[in-house]
Amino acid sequence: MSNASIIERAKKVLFPNYRQAPVAIVRGLGAKVWDADGREYLDWLGGVATVALGHNHPAVRAAVEAQLGKLWHISNHYFNEPQVALAERLCADGHGERAFFCNSGTEANEGAIKVARKYQRETGHTERFEILCAVDSFHGRTLGALAATGQPKYHHGFEPLPEGFRHLPFGDLAAFEAAIGPKTAAILIECIQGESGVVVPPEGFIAGLRRLCDQHGLLLLLDEVQGAFGRTGKLWSFEWEGVSPDVFTLAKALGNGLPIGALLAKRKVADVMLPGTHGSTFGGNPVAAAGACAVYDELLQRGAMARGVIGAERLWKRLREVQADAGGAITELRGRGMWIGLTFADARAGKVLALARDRGLLVNAIGDRAMRFAPSLLLTDQEIDQGAQLFADAVKAAA
Ligand SMILES: *Cc1c(COP(=O)(O)O)cnc(C)c1O
Repeated sequence: MSNASIIERAKKVLFPNYRQAPVAIVRGLGAKVWDADGREYLDWLGGVATVALGHNHPAVRAAVEAQLGKLWHISNHYFNEPQVALAERLCADGHGERAFFCNSGTEANEGAIKVARKYQRETGHTERFEILCAVDSFHGRTLGALAATGQPKYHHGFEPLPEGFRHLPFGDLAAFEAAIGPKTAAILIECIQGESGVVVPPEGFIAGLRRLCDQHGLLLLLDEVQGAFGRTGKLWSFEWEGVSPDVFTLAKALGNGLPIGALLAKRKVADVMLPGTHGSTFGGNPVAAAGACAVYDELLQRGAMARGVIGAERLWKRLREVQADAGGAITELRGRGMWIGLTFADARAGKVLALARDRGLLVNAIGDRAMRFAPSLLLTDQEIDQGAQLFADAVKAAA
């Protein structure tokens, strides 16, 4: 097996829908991965903000292996203990009071949209169905989540999309306020926009949306799919805003790479979802749930989140040095914690991406001018210094 042979086979049998690097990854350990040609890479994308504890984490693997010997799947026609144990953990701090499990971020957001409409319907507001979302947001690829996504380029060719979504500029509280009308049911938003390049809104924006929701009887739905689980240095990214949402959605780092998503809601909201209203065959299956329990325990009880905060300080310091040395090539560094976006003065992102990969560093380009890092929270000091050096070299080589 080699990169070339796997790619040749892939081109004959896979949809061509991804823009993929010419690399097939065969193994991972911590923040390192290896391709089919035996080359080693430092992974600073983390499976898109998903492998927050690093690849092949021993505690998560042990939890999954123990569960594999007991029960893989039973459906939600019955209770299963790992799912209950995971819900207990996710609801422990009271932001979420009830959990629903699914298999991806898209599905979690699709559930949030349904819950918002149903809640308004069941509380007598039959005219409310519209959801306010942000320009440049990303909520997923199924038709409902796609309609919520504020990026027309993803809509093209798939119309008609479900109606009832409006997009307002991210960070513009007055625009959201002005858009609220008799049909408005909820606001669905990310606290930091991940897919559009780790874009941080003005301070107080999310808290302002919370106030608007309270004043107008709307639900605040926060898409925490990318921002949760210590990515920003706190368990939930909305903790920075001092707010608590009515509903929030999770996936990505929840399973550290196992496919699992979740919808957390306040009890009064969850209570409208009676038998028959929503469901999932795989959702909350015992293997993924057991793995996710181990992820949560590593983050909160065994110091992974705290280590991420320390590592992030060093990472920001190194990247500021890279920026200072790059002679104006890097125009902005933004984000929070182990979640960093940067912009270039010129259209070099694609070049930097390829040059970094050639040097053994995996990152992510967003359009021509921006990049994103979302590495493991457990990057070592040495992996931070080494990655920053590789990145600096790639930025220079791309000039
Ligand atoms: C990745 C992402 C999604 C979609 O999650 P999938 O698991 O790919 O379906 C939704 N919202 C946000 C904010 C994301 O980053």
